[in-house]
Formats: sequence, structure tokens, C-alpha cells
Amino acid sequence: MSEHSIRDVVIVGGGTAGWMAAAAMIRLLDKRSINITLIESDEIGTVGVGEATIPPIIAYNNMLRINEDEFLAATKATFKLGIEFVDWGAIGERYFHPFGPHGQDFQGVHFHQIYLRESRLRKLDDIGAWSMSTTAAALGRYARPEPNAPLPLSQLGYAFHFDAGLYAAFLRGIAERQGVRRVEGKIVGATLDGSSGNVQHVTLADGTTIAGDLFVDCSGFRGLLIEDKLGTGYEDWSKWLPCDRAIAVPSEYPGQPDPFTRSTARSAGWQWRIPLQHRMGNGIVYSSGYLPDSDAEELLLANLEGKPLAEPRKLFFKAGRRRLAWNANVVSLGLSSGFVEPLESTSIHLIQSGIVKLLALFPDRRFNPVERDEYNRQMQDVFEDVRDFIILHYKATRRDDSPFWNYCRTMELPDSLEAKLELWRAKGRLFRDQRELFATPSWVAVLLGQGIVPEETEPAADALDPAMISDALDKMRLSYRHMAEHMPMHGDFVAEACASAGRR
Ligand SMILES: Cc1cc2nc3c(=O)[nH]c(=O)nc-3n(C[C@H](O)[C@H](O)[C@H](O)COP(=O)(O)OP(=O)(O)OC[C@H]3O[C@@H](n4cnc5c(N)ncnc54)[C@H](O)[C@@H]3O)c2cc1C
Repeated sequence: MSEHSIRDVVIVGGGTAGWMAAAAMIRLLDKRSINITLIESDEIGTVGVGEATIPPIIAYNNMLRINEDEFLAATKATFKLGIEFVDWGAIGERYFHPFGPHGQDFQGVHFHQIYLRESRLRKLDDIGAWSMSTTAAALGRYARPEPNAPLPLSQLGYAFHFDAGLYAAFLRGIAERQGVRRVEGKIVGATLDGSSGNVQHVTLADGTTIAGDLFVDCSGFRGLLIEDKLGTGYEDWSKWLPCDRAIAVPSEYPGQPDPFTRSTARSAGWQWRIPLQHRMGNGIVYSSGYLPDSDAEELLLANLEGKPLAEPRKLFFKAGRRRLAWNANVVSLGLSSGFVEPLESTSIHLIQSGIVKLLALFPDRRFNPVERDEYNRQMQDVFEDVRDFIILHYKATRRDDSPFWNYCRTMELPDSLEAKLELWRAKGRLFRDQRELFATPSWVAVLLGQGIVPEETEPAADALDPAMISDALDKMRLSYRHMAEHMPMHGDFVAEACASAGRR
């Protein structure tokens, strides 16, 4: 510890972002020399949605040394092997975006190249037949790919669905046990230091002031410090992502939970279905310019599989990102840093990514701008990466049944995505440019799933021995099927994992 070290961190907000940040910071920073205070207001509450995740969450849980069975029991979680997309390419079509790879690469040639080449010679099943996660999901089965699991089980990628409120409470328990101080109260003001422009302290409704060296703004869409106080600005992406509203409602769900999220495209947006242990999470995400609120609610309620368990909740948002995720001594995390709609369940990952980067670039009280600039550059990259992948789902459609889909199908793209699509269309090539999220199999699943098939394959794929490839593809497909058939039913696996947590 030096004389310049940060001594007081103040986290503003106790939703998923606030408690994820608190639990990680108290675990990884030296708690003998740093105080972490989290302020939240029960009166304001949290956004209360955000129940589907992507695989990197496992690394976050491991960082906190969370036992997975205890986590499943505490948050009523289920496993998620990917997302089933219904009616996206065209009405009546469906495909699966799995976690984990498709097949195996041969002699340095990507599996999808081999699949594409073979599918020009004979009719093949959907590429999902060569994915462990897709095959298991289709049968409603799950088995945990323990470290050192044999192929093809080791290719199973997974994440979780969980109850957002229970998850925040679970993390709160961890954070408070390690020494995070929680303050209940509504923040009504913040004071800046005249010379540095840094936030000095926040003031609560009862007049209490809480000072800090570093503030982490997890206050939700409003961005209490990053926007209200610092006026950082917001980059609006709604011309590419026109959905700006959601309505969420839980419903009864008595059956075995499916190990996947379902996203069904509707006339001006899409509807989610997230199976938890005790209920189904449902919601519709839509563009208010194309669908009145009352019609959206009607559409949502008409498509529930069980009785609603609460009144539908309306949520308003604008796709985009805060121009600077870190401004002065305020780092925004979660909804205060921006929002890309939940089609690929990326927001919780963006929180995690922000926390990891903040810890890697943790400042001292001199706030070297180099660290802040690097953080902002990295967060811009990860936000734009997610943005492009989500836009792809809207653009890659043949739907022409509504003005909304006509707009999406014909809209102009960001240059980064346009270039990627051109490369894919020519010879099925995809490059990741050091991007941290969505690997090649994810892009392949969505592109092929929505009917964008390259005109040719690359020369290295064409050079492979056709008989060897044909035989290998058939054997691989059978091995995925065989492995999946021997897995437990997903609901049984979850019940056993929760029972084992109870026995610990
Ligand atoms: C429709 C929808 C669906 C989503 N689905 C997914 C999904 O499937 N997967 C995913 O990863 N993400 C999803 N998200 C995003 C996810 O919900 C959020 O990223 C996550 O919940 C984090 O929210 P937050 O903590 O930033 O904000 P919030 O939950 O809004 O928390 C804000 C906190 O700040 C506090 N606060 C605010 N103002 C004050 C004040 N003046 N004084 C004191 N405290 C204050 C509040 O009390 C609260 O504790 C979804 C979002 C939406 C809108």
C-alpha cells in the first residue's frame, strides 16, 4: 500500500451490477487497507430482470470460489446450453445457437468450412447435429462437463438461468460476510471537487454524506453519477437496434425445465422464455414505433404456457453506451454504462467484463489518465462487439411480414459488421480480431440458422480428402447423439445438484 492508494470505494446501487462488483472487489482487493461501501435504496428497487447468462459467468463464480451446486440451490437456477431462435430467418424456421463448438477442425480447417463443403455434395442435417450442446438441448438432457471430461462431452458449453433477485441476494451474502458495508438510503445529491472534477461525496435523503476516492456507479439506467452529475453523454444505437421497450411477466411452469432460452420473433420484436426451477421468466422486447404497448402486452400474455404469477412490468430503454464508461473518478457498470438488448443475454457479462478490467487497471488516487483511457477503449470494444452480433440477428432475416422487419432487413450496418458479412458471404470466412466474446461457432450458428450461406468454401477445405471427411462427419454426428442419449434429464440433474448442496 502506498500513500496514494485508494482507501474508500463507494458502490452506488445494489442490483446485479452493484453486488457483483462488491463481491468481486472485496474478494480480490486487500481488505485490510480498503473499505468498500454499497449504497442502495429499497424504495427505488432494482430492474428485477436479467435472468439468462453466457458461459463466462462460470469464471466469475470460480473467481469468487462459489460452489456451483450451492449457487444453483440458492438462485433457483437451471442450466442453459444456448438459445433456440424461432421465426427469425423466416416464419416457421428455427435454429439453435449453442455454447461450445461445432464438430472438430481438420488439419487447421474450421469445421464449418468442412460442413459447408460436404453439404454441397449431399443433404446434411442442420449443423447443430455436430454440436454437443445443441444435441443435448434437443433431448432436454444435461451432464456437467467436469474438467478432463472425454470428447465429445468436454465440448458441452453451458451457462445458467437464475432468479435475478435471488442472485443479487446471494452475492450480497458473500460480499457482506467478507466485509462490504451496506447502507440503505436514497442518494439525493453528489458534490464535486472544484479542482479535479472528481466526485467527493454523495448525500443521502437523511442528510448523511458518504465520501469516497473511487465511485462505482451501478445505479441503473439513469446513471446517477456518470450522467446526472458528470454529464458524460450517451451514444445512441437505436437506428440499428430499434427495440426500446420490454414487458416482463413470470408464469407457472410445472414441467421439466428446458436447458435453453427460447427467443421467438414477433411482428415488431421478440419474446423470451427462460425456464427456472420454480417458474418461467417471460418477456417481450419491442419497438414502440411499430407496436403499441397494449398490443405488445396482449401478444405476450397470449403466448404464455402457464398462468401469469404477477402483474406485467414495463421497462423503457435506449440501445447504446455511455460515451465514457469511466469518467473522472466514477466507473459505471451495468445499466448505467449502456444497454444492448437482452437477445443474447450479454448485459451481465458486460458487468463482469467491466469488473475484471477495472481490477486489472485499478487506479490510485492520482488517477493516471492512461489507465482510464485504456479501460474506456477496452469497454468500447466489448460493447461494439456485442452490438454487431445482436444487429446481425435483425439484419439476417427474410421476413417481410411487417414494417418492423422490412426496416431491419434493409437497414444500413455499422462498417465493422458490413465487412464481416462480406467476408462470410464470399467464402465463409470469419475473423475475431482479438474480440473476447462470441467465437466463430456463435456467428456460424446465427448466419446459417438465418439462411446466409456462403457462395463458396475456402481452398484448404476443398483440398481435404472427400471420403475421409464424409466418414468422419457421420461418425462425429453419431457420437454426439450417443453421448446426449446417455445424459440425465436436465430437471433431474438440477434436482440432484440442489440436493447435494443441501447435504454439504
Ligand atoms: C427487459 C430486460 C431484460 C434483460 N434480460 C437480461 C438477461 O437475460 N441477461 C442479462 O445478462 N441481462 C439482462 N438484462 C440486463 C440486466 O437486467 C442488468 O444488466 C442487470 O440487472 C444489472 O442492472 P443494474 O444493477 O445495473 O441496475 P438495477 O437493477 O436497476 O439496480 C440499480 C440499483 O441502484 C439503486 N439506486 C438507483 N438510484 C438510487 C438512488 N438515488 N439512491 C440509492 N440507490 C439508488 C437501486 O436501488 C438499485 O439497487 C435485461 C434488461 C432488461 C431491461
